[in-house]
Amino acid sequence: MSTRARQYDAQVLRRTPVSDHLVRLVLGGPGLAGFKSTGVPDEWVGLVVPGQFQSRYYTVRSWQDGELTVDVVIHDVGLVTEWATRDCLGDTVVLTEPKGSFAMTAEAGWLILVGDLTAMPAMARITDTVDVPTRVWAEVPDELGDYLPEGTKVHWLQTPDNGGSRLASVVEGIDWPQGQGYFWMAGESAQMRAIRKHLMREVRLPSTAYDVMGYWRAGGVRQPRAVDPGPIWRAGKAAGKSDEEIWADYDRARDG
Ligand SMILES: Cc1cc2nc3c(=O)[nH]c(=O)nc-3n(C[C@H](O)[C@H](O)[C@H](O)COP(=O)(O)OP(=O)(O)OC[C@H]3O[C@@H](n4cnc5c(N)ncnc54)[C@H](O)[C@@H]3O)c2cc1C
Repeated sequence: MSTRARQYDAQVLRRTPVSDHLVRLVLGGPGLAGFKSTGVPDEWVGLVVPGQFQSRYYTVRSWQDGELTVDVVIHDVGLVTEWATRDCLGDTVVLTEPKGSFAMTAEAGWLILVGDLTAMPAMARITDTVDVPTRVWAEVPDELGDYLPEGTKVHWLQTPDNGGSRLASVVEGIDWPQGQGYFWMAGESAQMRAIRKHLMREVRLPSTAYDVMGYWRAGGVRQPRAVDPGPIWRAGKAAGKSDEEIWADYDRARDG
């Protein structure tokens, strides 16, 4: 049996700017007929754009009536960035099977979400689906007032001028709620590594109570390669690893 993850062809049906740095792409077409959402609200797919072989990873903002929506952040440079900035309507892209890692337990009485612009699609979809009191810290370069569901308690933070992130120090200042809950965070990898240490050593959250993912690496040049989180995720789960161990493996694979 082949261990290759299934792939799907899809066409860009609609392209709508959401803000200066965010573009919404709605993908569809007969090639998506067999696509099945995992239902996990931070699920992502690999995306290969025309003329490229490398994937980049994007959250499934929604999957409805045969249409899959992704919200793509426009960086200064980048493989998908350059493609999504152009008129890509009608282009055929390749998607990989979705995978998700958000794993809040039924006992969780609160949820904290922290992320930058790349994490907004996942934070919006998670907030859409959970019903525990939720607080969000969002570090974004644009005004995105109505991106999250109405009524969401959100602390808006401005992305630093150098395009980096200060999310690690933000999390170090959080006043943690009492009782069991769940913490989800995604953004720049070095910040995420610092936060895993902080959660383990200072906050002492059990590893089942958080999920902290490096979504991109600061650098200033196009990434030499992107590593698919899917196989690392599957192998880690099969080996009984925690989310935290799996995302640390993923960081190591990208650094190697
Ligand atoms: C599981 C997962 C889910 C993700 N979901 C989304 C999503 O829904 N929407 C989304 O836009 N991204 C998402 N990302 C992040 C996205 O895959 C990366 O940002 C990717 O590098 C963008 O590809 P690119 O081809 O545009 O730029 P690349 O060619 O990969 O990188 C070009 C340059 O841009 C820089 N760069 C990359 N990302 C950022 C950033 N966020 N801020 C500043 N500089 C950056 C790099 O350091 C590099 O210098 C997700 C990543 C993962 C792992």
